[in-house]
Amino acid sequence: MTRLLLIGPPGAGKGTQAERLSSAFDVPAISTGDIFRFNVKNDTELGLQVKAFMDAGAYVPDSLTNAIVSDRLQQPDATKGFLLDGYPRTQEQVLELDRLLEADGDALDAVVLIVADTEEVVARLLKRAAEQGRADDTADVIRHRLSVYEEQTSPLIDVYSSRGLVVTVDGLGAVDEVTGRILAALTGRGLSVPVTSVPVTSVPVTSVPVTSVPVTSGDAASAS
Ligand code: ADP
Repeated sequence: MTRLLLIGPPGAGKGTQAERLSSAFDVPAISTGDIFRFNVKNDTELGLQVKAFMDAGAYVPDSLTNAIVSDRLQQPDATKGFLLDGYPRTQEQVLELDRLLEADGDALDAVVLIVADTEEVVARLLKRAAEQGRADDTADVIRHRLSVYEEQTSPLIDVYSSRGLVVTVDGLGAVDEVTGRILAALTGRGLSVPVTSVPVTSVPVTSVPVTSVPVTSGDAASAS
């Protein structure tokens, strides 16, 4: 049973790491940003309510966000633990999560803070804008999201630090490296990580010698 939070500025790589930590700990990764984007994409009632906030790089109101998370944490897969990516982001959301956990007698295991400098995250987000065309990845909106993060979310780091929960990890470097750092930091706190989940540095395809590809003859080769 593992309950983790992932905090960091936009562009720190939370989503990428959340996926990996979710398989490492076998808990669902719950991203409020993904839930909102899914709803916007599918024109649901929730999507219509949140679209303008997201496009402007503003936070979705706490009442709405809290209700979504409360509902999501009651789904059966979250009873075995969870990794929350991008929640809580405000003091009010911290209080709501506290209430939700207390109601079940549960507690957080750790809060992973991914740090990355502003220039780097802006560069990453602009690259993502070019690749994926996310509506909130324009230069102006990125700047606004960063300032909202500084103002509303970075104070939460002190809140969780005073509870002794924060592990801080450098978000710069290769994805595997960052995952390795997070797993090492969590292991250092006594969390057990299944051995098989430790990321294996992938071998670049170009370095695999061509002769190592098994050669089969005739139909078998052409059928594969
Ligand atoms: P990023 O961390 O890169 O900004 P996310 O996908 O986590 O991206 O969030 C995208 C947007 O979704 C936010 O800018 C905000 O509008 C909304 N959002 C996500 N999580 C929250 C939250 N916990 N509270 C309020 N708004 C949120």
